[in-house]
Amino acid sequence: MKNLASKIQSSLPKHLVRLLNLAGKFGDELGFKVYAVGGFVRDLLLGVENLDIDLTVEGDGITYATHFAKKQSGKVVKHPRFGTATVYFRDGYHIDAATSRKESYPHAAALPEVVEGSIRRDLQRRDFTINGLAMRLNPAGFGDLVDMFNGEDDLRKGVIRVMHNLSFQDDPTRIFRAVRFSRRYRFRIEPLTRRLMRQAIDKQMCDRLSGRRIRNEIYLLLNEVDPPAVIRTMARFGVLECINRRLEFNTEKSRLLGRIEKVLPSFRKTVDWFAYFLGLVYGLKGRELDEISERLMLSRKESEKVILVGEVKSICNKLNSIKSYTPAHVYRMLKGLPEELLVLIIAVANTGKVRRVVNKYFSEWRKVKIKLSGDDLLKLGLKPGPRFGKILEEVLYAKLNGRLKTKRDEVTYVVDNFLKQ
Ligand code: ATP
Ligand code: MG
Repeated sequence: MKNLASKIQSSLPKHLVRLLNLAGKFGDELGFKVYAVGGFVRDLLLGVENLDIDLTVEGDGITYATHFAKKQSGKVVKHPRFGTATVYFRDGYHIDAATSRKESYPHAAALPEVVEGSIRRDLQRRDFTINGLAMRLNPAGFGDLVDMFNGEDDLRKGVIRVMHNLSFQDDPTRIFRAVRFSRRYRFRIEPLTRRLMRQAIDKQMCDRLSGRRIRNEIYLLLNEVDPPAVIRTMARFGVLECINRRLEFNTEKSRLLGRIEKVLPSFRKTVDWFAYFLGLVYGLKGRELDEISERLMLSRKESEKVILVGEVKSICNKLNSIKSYTPAHVYRMLKGLPEELLVLIIAVANTGKVRRVVNKYFSEWRKVKIKLSGDDLLKLGLKPGPRFGKILEEVLYAKLNGRLKTKRDEVTYVVDNFLKQ
């Protein structure tokens, strides 16, 4: 049996090594067998950093986590319905503990019911063989690899393989997960798995997933290192159909996503994944955009952005056709648009001119503020009302166009334009 103890010593941070040893020791104290499972073991074998420790306990995960927390003055959060708990430590680390279990599915794509079982059954219910590995943590066998489904072999060969033929039906999110792992590690999805995936997509299994779960899978996919490539792979395996049957992928779309990737670095880091998502849905009609927002249960903010995608083409045309523009002119066209839309506009227009004005708007014009306020207008003797907003806007435009420097200039501008009539 392969033992990973020395690999643990050499590749993990010291406090994690300590936690893993303690995890085994506490298992012994309670008479439970404890295993590290899933992605953590996979990445340990691959030599990829992964600090997310998932434990499976033959016994009771919640009792175990409570014991762990008590001994290490951590905080425990319990999920009794699932037999799982998370222990949070003071150094910022956390450990998830589950009860090793066999899951039966009351009906496909529903939440699993938890029944106590053994490590074998725990591993069997996992998505792919490479994620179905475990490692013993009890002192007696610390570091022993538990490989019941040839996961290590598939890791070596670079293969994504389901555990059984009904896997995608049991949980269609695995369709997305297959793409995610295949992209991340450059692994092949083996032919039978690919066929089963295709069948599940054709049988419209994803229709049974909640919008939130699909959205989460898209979020995870687009947070991988190369989102344009991720989307290309999704298209290749027909996974885009799970989001919307009208989503198209072609060289034009591929180029657009590539341009989004180039544009993004000059914007804030937080906009990344959603900018790609907007690029993906670009080209759909208003009704289809609505449909997607609804299907994925997007937040109101996100839905608003998706709807605005329908306007991008005409904004680009306008920006491209202006011969000589003033900052105020551009400001008026772009005002209020979220960053992701600005990224999309630059990528869609694909001209130096649009890139320059939108960047200028983003880095400078959008931040311009006037000194004048409604109070000042009152002092000038203007009557309050909706006109105030309009006047302040005009002052802002004049300032954007470089005509006003000081507050005094702003006052004079109002007097000249709105009082002397
Ligand atoms: P990542 O590095 O992206 O976190 P991961 O493999 O750790 O990948 P998680 O979503 O964190 O993935 O899940 C942890 C483990 O739980 C997986 O390795 C897998 O064994 C199991 N798992 C997660 N989701 C599923 C699923 N939908 N079906 C079956 N097993 C799953
Ligand atoms: Mg994980």
